[in-house]
Amino acid sequence: MSEWMTVLAVFWALWALDGARLRPRSGFTVVGGCGRWRRAFQGKISLPGFWPGSWRVQLDDVPVAISPVGVSNRPAGSIGRPDERPARIVAWRWAEIREVGVARGWIFINGARFCPDTGHVTAPELIALARLAPAERDPRIAGVIARWFRPEHLRRRLRVLVARTAVPVQFNAIVFLGMVGITVYVVGDLASRLPERASTLLAEWLPWMMLGLFAAHVAAVVFAWRAVRRLKPVTAQKRTSTLLSALLLPPQALRLRALAGEGFFPVQHGAAGMVAAGSGRAVCAAAFNALADLRWPARVEDEPAVAREIDAWFRGALEARLTALLAAAGISTEALLAPPEPDSPASCRYCPRCRDQFNDERGQCPNGVPLCPLARVRR
Ligand SMILES: [Zn+2]
Repeated sequence: MSEWMTVLAVFWALWALDGARLRPRSGFTVVGGCGRWRRAFQGKISLPGFWPGSWRVQLDDVPVAISPVGVSNRPAGSIGRPDERPARIVAWRWAEIREVGVARGWIFINGARFCPDTGHVTAPELIALARLAPAERDPRIAGVIARWFRPEHLRRRLRVLVARTAVPVQFNAIVFLGMVGITVYVVGDLASRLPERASTLLAEWLPWMMLGLFAAHVAAVVFAWRAVRRLKPVTAQKRTSTLLSALLLPPQALRLRALAGEGFFPVQHGAAGMVAAGSGRAVCAAAFNALADLRWPARVEDEPAVAREIDAWFRGALEARLTALLAAAGISTEALLAPPEPDSPASCRYCPRCRDQFNDERGQCPNGVPLCPLARVRR
C-alpha cells in the first residue's frame, strides 16, 4: 500500500499547488460556485476554490486617474487596504503624451514607467485618447470610467461560464470524489477493517477504478476545451496551453471551470466587481473603502500641480459612478459612513478613513486625514 500512499500524496500536493497564482501586486480574489457561498480575500497570492465547480474572479484597483486635463498614476477610490501607491506621482497632460508602451506588466508613457497594466485603460486607448481633439476626448473618458461600473456585465459572464462548463465540472466532480474515496480507503487503511473477501475484491478493482477516473479526466479536459473555444476572452489568458498541460497532469485538471474563466471577465472597478461577484459583507467593505478613499485620501508627498487638478476631477467622476452603483445595489452611503460607536469613554475623535479612535484633540491621523469629532449617542 505504501506506493499508493506516495502516488496519492503527490497527487494532492500537485492539486493544492494548482491554481495558486502569484500576482504582480496585491489585489482581490473572489471565489464562488458552491451555491451562494463566496469568499473574497486580498493579497499577492490568489488561491482557487477546492470544489471543481468553483470559479474565480480577480479584481484590481484602478491604478490611474484619468481626466479631460490628462492622466496621473495616483489612484483614487481603492478598495484595497493598504492601498497601492506609486513610489513617485507622475502626471501627463494629453498634449504631452507622444508614445505609450507596455513592458513587464507596466504601462510606460514617453519612455517613463507610469502605472501597472491592469486593463482598466490600455496603452492603445491612452495613445488614441491623446491624439483626439478635446471635444471628442471628453465623452470617451466618461465612457472609459462608465465601463468600470457594469456589474451586470460581469454577472452575466459568470452565468454564461457556469452554464457552458457544466459538463466538464460533472466529470471533474467524479474524478475529485473518486480520488477522495480512494484516499480515504488507502490512508484510513480500510482494507484491513473490511472482511477479507471484500478487500481482495476492492484491491483487484482499484486499478480499474483508476482507469475509469482517467477516462473521466480525459472527457473533462475535452469538454472544457470545447467550452473554452466558445467563451471568448476579453483580457490576456493562456487557457489552451494550460488545458494541454492539465491533460498530461490530472491533478491540475480538477478546476477546469476556474481555468475556463481566465481572461473571460471584463475589467471592473473593485467595488463594481465585488457587487457582481462578492458576498454582502465583502461588498460593504469594498464600498466603504472606495468611498472613504475618494473623500478622505491619504496624504501624499510631492504631487505635481497637474496631478492635483486631474485628481480632483477624477474623484468627482468616480464618486458619481460609485454612489449610483451603491444606490442600485441597495447600499446606503450614509449608513456606510456613519460614525463608529466610541470604543472607550475617553474616545473623542475618529478618523473617517481608517476608523481609528483617539483620546486627544489632535487634528490628523497618522495617514494625514483630518479627524472628525466622535458624537456620543445617548440611549
Ligand atoms: Zn486614518
